[in-house]
Amino acid sequence: MIYKSYKKIDSLGRVHLPKDFRREIGLGENDDILIEVKENAIVITKAEENCVFCGKTDDLRSYKGKFVCADCIKILNTT
Ligand SMILES: [Zn+2]
Repeated sequence: MIYKSYKKIDSLGRVHLPKDFRREIGLGENDDILIEVKENAIVITKAEENCVFCGKTDDLRSYKGKFVCADCIKILNTT
């Protein structure tokens, strides 16, 4: 399904994300989001925890707010 909605940005740069949009991508209250600029668009996606080096999403360890997978930890420990 394609959703479209025209919104105004308030004086603090905020914009309301419609409930239908949030529900479509599984966003709930207090979920983290990733905001990226791609060409001339701002893309908002649900943030997923992934390794900062290879992008894997499984077997992660947290270090100072970043995630690193077990494989990359092994590589880091041998270099
Ligand atoms: Zn990794």
